[in-house]
Amino acid sequence: MQCNEQPYQAPRLFIAGAWRTGSAETRSQVINPATAEVLDELRHASVRDLDDALIAVEQGFGVWRGVPAAERQRVLTKSVENMRARRDEIARVLTLEQGKPLVQARAEIDVAAGMVQWYAEQARRVYGRIIPSPSADTDYEVRKEPVGPCLLLSPWNVPLILAARKIGGALAAGCSCIVKPPEETPASVAKMVECFVDAGTPPGVINVVFGVPQTVSEHLIASDSIRKVSFTGSVAVGQQIARLAAPGLKRVTLELGGHSPVIVFDDVDVDTVVRQLVTAKFRNAGQLCHAPTRFFVQRGIYPRFVERFAAAAAQLRVGDGLDERTDMGPLANVRRLRAMTELADATALDATLVTGGTRVAGQGYFFAPTVFADVGPDARAMKDEPFGPVALVRSFDTPAQAVALANSTRYGLGSYVFTDSAKLQRQMINSLDVGSVAINSTTVTVAEAPFGGVRDSGYGYESGEEGLESYLHTKFIHRTYLA
Ligand code: NAD
Repeated sequence: MQCNEQPYQAPRLFIAGAWRTGSAETRSQVINPATAEVLDELRHASVRDLDDALIAVEQGFGVWRGVPAAERQRVLTKSVENMRARRDEIARVLTLEQGKPLVQARAEIDVAAGMVQWYAEQARRVYGRIIPSPSADTDYEVRKEPVGPCLLLSPWNVPLILAARKIGGALAAGCSCIVKPPEETPASVAKMVECFVDAGTPPGVINVVFGVPQTVSEHLIASDSIRKVSFTGSVAVGQQIARLAAPGLKRVTLELGGHSPVIVFDDVDVDTVVRQLVTAKFRNAGQLCHAPTRFFVQRGIYPRFVERFAAAAAQLRVGDGLDERTDMGPLANVRRLRAMTELADATALDATLVTGGTRVAGQGYFFAPTVFADVGPDARAMKDEPFGPVALVRSFDTPAQAVALANSTRYGLGSYVFTDSAKLQRQMINSLDVGSVAINSTTVTVAEAPFGGVRDSGYGYESGEEGLESYLHTKFIHRTYLA
């Protein structure tokens, strides 16, 4: 640790404009995944803390909904400035608790700030409309209003971007929120929330709680105060959240992971595509919902693709994210390490292991960048989301085969297509059963465009106009003027 760096500290709760120590009996440990050492203990919210947060978020909504859009924009813009100014400090905390290399942690703050920036600008563009009415003494008007206090549940893989996307949308629309960041990576998100607080969000507009996730969700979603829930995480938990929200008919946005296909046609330059895909596959140790996972490569270039891809994967430097030379850090928690070990063992039965496949020696949760080739279509890994540094490669002959393989999971989030042929591009766009398609690119999520999935990948959108819309409801006004 350099002398100007603060020791790691788990955050407290933030309720009604003040930081407070959680008063529950339960606590959890925050662990550095690069060393498996405990960084600190996180105190949880008691039922009383949660009830205070519910009162605060209602009061915060009462204030924030009346704040003019231009002022909301100013506060959000100032929050973005704070995030950018504190980038290095937040990045170090993120790397300590999540494991990703510092360069990726800094990039994450940049992207998170960019998401909030876009929402800040959109805050002033929430327009209603006037509809021509059938009568001379009647006006028809449509207005957009904030949906109300929101519960924002965000995960540990990309803690800043995924929380920022929710907080930015809610606050731009005029909603207040209770954020429950992941207990595994709490401090980076709390530091980002501080950026909003220091920018001048009134008390109660943004609140932060930690706890046993299921207990917190059950208590908060059951409250009449919460009008919308946004969750990013696993399918099983998404289903639970939808069930909890059903009795109160609360709005829900669910972003639940994917098993993204990559279709590479044989007209591409293999080395260029491999370079792009190795970076995208092993970024954040593969723990991204839109990470490329199933690589379908046309037969003409298949052997060369496998060889180059595996060679580039094997060259990645795996290590502590705090070391600037590291390309890929550890998995974020021991659950992912176990999951990767099991998945690799099961896949080996139905595929050829080209590189990796095992844990990297040491105390931390390191798993080698792994490439399997000739993976059978029915291998477990082709159905279960790896959510780790495992690439599954298989050849295809015809475009129709590629589509059938790509559409053969219950997920439908991101997808990637590499070809110069406009005809093939069009055929893929029309046939892939997914929320987004990147053509000759590895980016499917940007601040300006909607991001969401189909089938088990969830429903609703974040980012873009659709993301903001999900925090708004539409009010119709029929006004008749008395003679
Ligand atoms: P998990 O299902 O236990 O938890 C997933 C996330 O949901 C975690 O952040 C957790 O804190 C939270 N969570 C769990 N129960 C909750 C509840 N009742 N209410 C609110 N939040 C709750 O799994 P995990 O071991 O943390 O992650 C493994 C799987 O989760 C991965 O295989 C992946 O499919 C999925 N995941 C997806 C994303 C994504 O970006 N879509 C992010 C993280 C995890």
